[in-house]
Amino acid sequence: MKKPRADDPVHADTGDWDGGWLRTARHVPSPNVGTRPEGACVDLIVLHSISLPPGIYGGPEVEQLFTNRLDWAAHPYFEQIRGLEVSAHFFVRRDGEIVQFADVDARAWHAGASRWRGRENCNDDSIGIELEGLEGDSFAAPQYDALVHLCQALQQRCPIRHIAGHEHVAPGRKQDPGAGFDWPRLAHALGDARWCFPECVLTTPPRDD
Ligand SMILES: [Zn+2]
Repeated sequence: MKKPRADDPVHADTGDWDGGWLRTARHVPSPNVGTRPEGACVDLIVLHSISLPPGIYGGPEVEQLFTNRLDWAAHPYFEQIRGLEVSAHFFVRRDGEIVQFADVDARAWHAGASRWRGRENCNDDSIGIELEGLEGDSFAAPQYDALVHLCQALQQRCPIRHIAGHEHVAPGRKQDPGAGFDWPRLAHALGDARWCFPECVLTTPPRDD
């Protein structure tokens, strides 16, 4: 992943963003987006995990799902999600590549019925980030690096303050990103007291792996 530098002439004047699109991401616009409510305060990042078929990494299927181009007949699992129209703002692949599907000013369809920091319907005022992975599986080092870059870039563009998992904003209904996601590692890497994490994820020290 190419990271912008202060002395990089491409990024020096306009920062990391071209409108609501991150310059360092690969842009694959999804039709599954809407308009945020007027006055929405986008102060939350919701982290997810996804892989298609589940546990298989590196293929085009997640991008195909988010752009309504997935062949439902191509795998038995896809029949279970046939017709699903979803999206997320970002997808972080195992190698750290960042794919962007929705303008950060648009409302992506990732959280569903949800509640966090006293507000319902997290899609209205959050950024959805999907990590290529599987609930319970661990995530790759380049993904944490890319995620930190992405979170910090988002903080330049939106009044982001909170970060939580889909499992936290939709408890009992969703389990992603799951126990394999190392929250203390992310918190340590972000290293900034302005970030608000779910209290339950920061009770153990960072792991060494
Ligand atoms: Zn999710």
